Amino acid sequence: MTIQQKLSRLPQINECLKSPHGQKWLESYYRTIVVRSIREVIDSLRKEILSGAEPDVSLDTVAGDIESLIRRHSAYRLLPLINASGVVIHTNLGRAILSDRAIENVASIAGGYSNLEYEITKGKRGKRYSHIKNIITELTGAEDAIVVNNNAAAVLICLDTFAKGKEVITSRGELVEIGGSFRIPAVMQASGAILREVGTTNKTHLSDYENALCGNTGLLLKVHQSNYKVIGFTEEVPISDLAALGKEFRIPVVDDLGSGSLIGLEQFGIYGEPTVQEVIQQGADLVTFSGDKLLGGPQSGIIVGKEKLIQQIQKNPMLRAMRIDKMTFAALEATFMQYLDEEKALRDIPTLKMLTQPEKDIRKRARKILSLLKKSLSDHAEMEIIPDQSRAGGGSLPETNFPTFSVSLKPRNMSVNALEKKLRSGTPPVIARIQGACLLFDARTVQDKEVKILVNCVKAAFE
Ligand SMILES: *Cc1c(COP(=O)(O)O)cnc(C)c1O
Repeated sequence: MTIQQKLSRLPQINECLKSPHGQKWLESYYRTIVVRSIREVIDSLRKEILSGAEPDVSLDTVAGDIESLIRRHSAYRLLPLINASGVVIHTNLGRAILSDRAIENVASIAGGYSNLEYEITKGKRGKRYSHIKNIITELTGAEDAIVVNNNAAAVLICLDTFAKGKEVITSRGELVEIGGSFRIPAVMQASGAILREVGTTNKTHLSDYENALCGNTGLLLKVHQSNYKVIGFTEEVPISDLAALGKEFRIPVVDDLGSGSLIGLEQFGIYGEPTVQEVIQQGADLVTFSGDKLLGGPQSGIIVGKEKLIQQIQKNPMLRAMRIDKMTFAALEATFMQYLDEEKALRDIPTLKMLTQPEKDIRKRARKILSLLKKSLSDHAEMEIIPDQSRAGGGSLPETNFPTFSVSLKPRNMSVNALEKKLRSGTPPVIARIQGACLLFDARTVQDKEVKILVNCVKAAFE
């Protein structure tokens, strides 16, 4: 047979689509993807023929290849995965897991119309931000509240509203960079505010702020040192002193808390995170914090504080570009409601649950994982439970140790790097940590409902 003859026996796209295989694919998948997959398989068969091979080109033979390609092209690129890294607020892995309540509320609001900007009692247009104001002010003790897309936006709109073309006095010890590109000096520049840095890296006094005050001062800004600590010979000015200074000179004082917890975490051995309520009580005029760090809600930025100032932010046209959507609202309102009962919040909000989980509960989960793994993989790996350290992540609590238990797995016939990679590319992907020749699965960040799935993924990686 000549090459021409062989090529002429390749199936045609239309012929494939009309076949029973094609009809079945078109029922379950998108036409564009089906056509693309068929074309790719035919193209690769053509290449094989041109290079001298004699592949079987009957549709029944190649249907399997086409179907697996259709599946691959149909998969979403944003995937759920199992976080066995032990980093609770993992920015790369989507930060906070929403609570069941929040998820239910998102589904109920997103799947229909809502009163997002409608006052039901009056039957007329309402304000988007009014729904969430009461619950936030009740929980934080602030006069007023508003919510934007993330905490970076919260800081930006505060600077834009109160300090465009004016000076913002900030301590040199607080010019932080959060992961990615959030750097205080850069955000300041983007907003058109002028950074007036005072003090030194390790020590800043109240008098430093006082001496820097001038006719063009727009704001006093305190920034929480989220992801680092300055230790040793250090001094920072407490927010209460800064608030008093601001009050005297009628300059608003903003505290960018970053994480912003609503629950005092000292009872769990977690120090250095003042609560939003405390900072409001100590006199900060505005406080900004993330919705998806310690709060454990959806990505958002919350601004609480003096009514007069929040009203000014409401009038800033830039707010429109930062406004949050109904799904975020739904998740955020449900999450905030859960804080009305602290005990339930600690139990039901996954971020809080993971951070405060008793060691014995983590060990129990680790044991469960280990015993399931041992059932089928004893020949393939050495396994044990080891004491380990989790991290809060998300730029929170950099110095806090979270003692945990990890399942340590040392593969026998495979390198640990190969195993890690296989797990990472599995379905669902599993993110674990390499330590020496072992792969560690921190039981703190593995959810109970994921234990069996995790075990199956590990098994699959050895097959
Ligand atoms: C995390 C953080 C931010 C940025 O918050 P996003 O919600 O990630 O935009 C800003 N300031 C501080 C101090 C932070 O810790």
